[in-house]
Amino acid sequence: MLHTENLVVRFGGVFALGGVDFTMNEGEVHCLIGPNGAGKSTFFKVVTGQIAPTQGRVSLSGHDITGQSSAQIVRRGIGIKMQTPQLYDDMTVEETIWLGAYRRKGKAGARQRSAELIDELRLGPVARSEVGKLAHGLRQRVEIASVLAGDPALILLDEPAAGMSDADVAFMSELILRLRGRHSFLVVEHDMRFIRSISDRITVFHNGTIFLEGRCDEVLSDQGVKDIYLGKGTHHA
Ligand code: ADP
Ligand code: MG
Repeated sequence: MLHTENLVVRFGGVFALGGVDFTMNEGEVHCLIGPNGAGKSTFFKVVTGQIAPTQGRVSLSGHDITGQSSAQIVRRGIGIKMQTPQLYDDMTVEETIWLGAYRRKGKAGARQRSAELIDELRLGPVARSEVGKLAHGLRQRVEIASVLAGDPALILLDEPAAGMSDADVAFMSELILRLRGRHSFLVVEHDMRFIRSISDRITVFHNGTIFLEGRCDEVLSDQGVKDIYLGKGTHHA
């Protein structure tokens, strides 16, 4: 579904990505992990159209999307949730989700879809509240709802658990597990408990390349992966 070939990103003399070949399968929850500076955010920015690669190719269900803008990529049926919420603070929760649905479905479908999502994400009690007045965890939930409102086949999430309470993280992982199958998810995350609870597959980035990829349990029990996180490098991995 999502595929990259020899993806290279160079910032001046720094290779943030040094030739990444990545494939993501449909219907899976696929997490990207790796220590700080590994290249996760750069990879996320390339596949979401925020930066163009120096070299290489990104394709989506067989279509070349290399160098397309985020807006063009969203129109292809991809939902993108950046790390900092992209919400209008003075809109209500209901309006925000309705707008997400309206963009994709028009007026007729938007009302029903937003009502369903308010229900599914248990946002009923705050439906009439302004987004800017909500706590962080609820704002994240509203943003997920507005991404889901467009019924994207693939959803790309940058650190959805960052800064959230345990209860909010638990809610988010239950939600992703419930939605898996209806949508595919690519998730960049640090929170290991969260990763463990949602991942089908994990790709570990290190020094701008893929260090290891595999099933969640295989990857998280790998000694080489543990060593990278402890800063022991890759020499004996
Ligand atoms: P991660 O998200 O895994 O922590 P990043 O993708 O942010 O890693 O960074 C990968 C490498 O690229 C790091 O060495 C970082 O310093 C560098 N880098 C990232 N963004 C920029 C930028 N805009 N300009 C220069 N160097 C950058
Ligand atoms: Mg990052």
